[in-house]
Amino acid sequence: MDYTQKIARQVAEIPRSGIRDFFELVQGREGVISLGVGEPDFVTPWHIREAAIYALEKGHTSYTSNLGLPELRKSIARYVGNFFHVDYEPLSEVLVTVGVSEAIDIALRALVNPGDEVIFHEPCYVSYSPSIALAYGKAVAVETRKRNGFALKADELRKAITPRSRVLMLNFPTNPTGATIDRADLEEIAALCIEHDLMVLSDEIYCELRYDDNGGDGGVEHVSIASLPGMRERTVLLHGFSKAFAMTGFRLGYACAPKPVVEAMMKIHQYSMLCAPIMSQMAAIEALENGAEPVARMRESYRQRRDFVVRRLNEMGLECHSPGGAFYVFPDIRRTGLASRDFAMRLLDEEGVAAVPGTAFGASGEGFLRCCYATSFDELRLAMDKMEAFVGRL
Ligand code: PLP
Repeated sequence: MDYTQKIARQVAEIPRSGIRDFFELVQGREGVISLGVGEPDFVTPWHIREAAIYALEKGHTSYTSNLGLPELRKSIARYVGNFFHVDYEPLSEVLVTVGVSEAIDIALRALVNPGDEVIFHEPCYVSYSPSIALAYGKAVAVETRKRNGFALKADELRKAITPRSRVLMLNFPTNPTGATIDRADLEEIAALCIEHDLMVLSDEIYCELRYDDNGGDGGVEHVSIASLPGMRERTVLLHGFSKAFAMTGFRLGYACAPKPVVEAMMKIHQYSMLCAPIMSQMAAIEALENGAEPVARMRESYRQRRDFVVRRLNEMGLECHSPGGAFYVFPDIRRTGLASRDFAMRLLDEEGVAAVPGTAFGASGEGFLRCCYATSFDELRLAMDKMEAFVGRL
């Protein structure tokens, strides 16, 4: 059978994730040090795992409300109120999803009409452009620049806005650059969103992982665009448990938004997903209520590793800004004369170190490499030694 005629056009047209393609090459190779997968190297803190075990022991194996357990939604609203300084009504303005991944998908499907333009900053998380395409939107990338620490600038955004622009997607701290954005820049972006009546999807999945450059314990303020004047009503705030709480396998996220938006998202969620897994939801309550201390410990550990990796990369001549958040660095490899993919392939072949070519995160990632430093210090040290030897030979 000719399956090219059977697969829906908009699915056939989206590319596979560049990360996945690259890691298929890595699989089966012995002794590779991976700086590739964007996942904490910690297991979920024990008290959170215990809450999931307890939920199972107690026989909590049912569906929940489509929106999520009321108790979890109350915890989320409390946490978001404290952390982001934005208040949401827990029972009508919070939707529990299967990871932020699902939240991105259903938010776009809830807000975008065919042909509407969705603007996002690039390099960006691999799912943004395909998710926009699957929602029949038109993806419009705005390149962010190394000289600005990969933060989005309002004047660059303004150039991308047209009468068809409908949604702006933001992700700070950013995957893959670790970029953060300051309040002044966010205020200018917010003013543009209000002027052009844009809705905002703000993916803040790394927001707890903000680092203090003075070697402190990471008490850096994270500003959400939802907290700026006039923005709560036009923002869908997306967050989840995968990164800061090291809960990727629990598959749990959430969206906070005005009631009509949550209602619209909930319709898609109830027909496609029904609800998020109950044992994950119960564990998430424990994470929100008692997880601050392990999160702070993990953050401090990431910060130490960031400092080490940034120093080593700069010492070996790969310019690398010190990112204010997440657990990625995005060194500039242009002076080696190699394209991102060639650099990554040769690094893998010659030294057994896997890092993701910047182009996996959009065309503007050419000339860069994403290294995830959520791996042990011993492995990081070895990876940096091997990279240094590789760069030295070029
Ligand atoms: N958003 C960003 C920016 C990410 O980096 C990731 C995962 O890497 C996700 C969303 C998906 O997270 P989740 O595990 O909650 O689906």
